[in-house]
Amino acid sequence: MISDGSGALPVLEEVCPACVGNGQIPARRVGNTIHSGGSCNECYGRGTKATEDGQRLLAFIRRHGV
Ligand SMILES: [Zn+2]
Repeated sequence: MISDGSGALPVLEEVCPACVGNGQIPARRVGNTIHSGGSCNECYGRGTKATEDGQRLLAFIRRHGV
């Protein structure tokens, strides 16, 4: 985690709520449907997601070509 919010920067990322930071979703059964596991679609396997502030920072970096 880049920042916990106690410093000058806002919180830029958060643990992915879908995979709880694992980056992988275990196979699971919901009713009669088997959901296959694998890389988490929410965070693309990273385990963390950029917050709105994090996304603003990413957009800033892209704009300035760093
Ligand atoms: Zn995830």
